[in-house]
Amino acid sequence: MTRPRVVIAGLGDSGLLTAIHLSRHADVVGISERPGLVSGKELGTRLTQPDEWARDHWIAFDRYRRLDRVRTVHGTLTGVDLDARRVRVTAADGAESEEPYDVLVVSTGVTNGFWRPPGLLSARDLAASLAADRERLAQAESIAVVGGGPAAVSCALNTSMTWPGKRIDLYFPGERLLPHHHPRVGPVLSKRLSQLGVGVHPGHRAVVPDGFGCDRITGDPIAWSTGQPAARADAVLWTIGKVRPNTAWLPRELLDEHGFVTVEPSLRVPGHPGVFAIGDVAATDPLRTSARNRVDKLLARNIRAELAGRPLRAYRPPKGQWGSVIGVQPNGLEVFAPNGRAYRFPAWTIRGLLQGWIVGRGIYRGVRRA
Ligand SMILES: Cc1cc2nc3c(=O)[nH]c(=O)nc-3n(C[C@H](O)[C@H](O)[C@H](O)COP(=O)(O)OP(=O)(O)OC[C@H]3O[C@@H](n4cnc5c(N)ncnc54)[C@H](O)[C@@H]3O)c2cc1C
Repeated sequence: MTRPRVVIAGLGDSGLLTAIHLSRHADVVGISERPGLVSGKELGTRLTQPDEWARDHWIAFDRYRRLDRVRTVHGTLTGVDLDARRVRVTAADGAESEEPYDVLVVSTGVTNGFWRPPGLLSARDLAASLAADRERLAQAESIAVVGGGPAAVSCALNTSMTWPGKRIDLYFPGERLLPHHHPRVGPVLSKRLSQLGVGVHPGHRAVVPDGFGCDRITGDPIAWSTGQPAARADAVLWTIGKVRPNTAWLPRELLDEHGFVTVEPSLRVPGHPGVFAIGDVAATDPLRTSARNRVDKLLARNIRAELAGRPLRAYRPPKGQWGSVIGVQPNGLEVFAPNGRAYRFPAWTIRGLLQGWIVGRGIYRGVRRA
């Protein structure tokens, strides 16, 4: 019997894990604009300790043992023919091709701020942008962070830990940081930021300049629609959750009114058997939580069930956000559970136990050394 052919469109956090689960059951092809897994997680440590960050969050595909049987293509998806079941790809060298599929997984994520840009990136481009962003912040005497979600808090805390002599300010529109986390989490981190000397400024809604996509670090004054005088800093980090789904290559009929992929609770695209979506691009729930809730396993099971004619299972999204906010610190890694309680992996457990066993072997089923 011929094995089914699965095309994974976008090999980021969710697509890569889905490919790993299916690699023994199907002929899997993964297509990505990135030179390996380049995670969108942990922005603060990415900016302040890019080498440390890259060790755990930028990993070449050939280091994953379970991807040995997966063919990866470094290129851009440019279209899909849903009737003929083929996607169109422009490879990094400019060659155009088509990839046929029995099952298509859309996991192309979102474009978000200066750290998740659209388009093809080489390893050299990525290394250059990591170094340039850190240098920009290292040269600044003052840093303003705009936004009140996990990326903003992570930036404010990590920059103040790395450069205690700089003036760091965090501006956000609501009364409480991290409004989508359990109500316990925001005040805990707000207190910690104040203890580090970060200026914490609730009630500030920034005016986003016309035509500005929040896609670079700026140095211009920040105007507020909430009436305060303009704020100034040498480097302004725009982390306001201005996400755009990477779906320009898909027909409108697959998308909701905001451009995200419409899915049933099983992650199948309604009306299109064999097409599924997962991760930040999939309109599973208002916060689009399927990546962080590790729905990749359920998706792989559902794909195998659909191919075998068995019923599919449903994803039931939790209401709020949870997880690590500030990344690995000198005292370890703190993770906020859905009930708002924090648990900590002590520093001595991070490399061997957490990254080696839990992440490398447990989650990714084997990662070779660099
Ligand atoms: C194990 C795990 C732990 C997590 N922990 C946390 C946590 O603690 N806290 C938290 O807030 N969140 C956490 N998250 C979630 C995380 O913040 C994001 O939600 C996640 O990075 C989104 O993954 P994604 O696969 O949807 O998108 P991405 O990782 O962005 O992947 C999309 C990929 O598709 C590529 N692509 C886009 N368009 C095209 C195209 N046209 N052609 C080809 N390729 C394209 C992109 O370049 C990218 O490589 C976690 C996720 C995972 C899997």
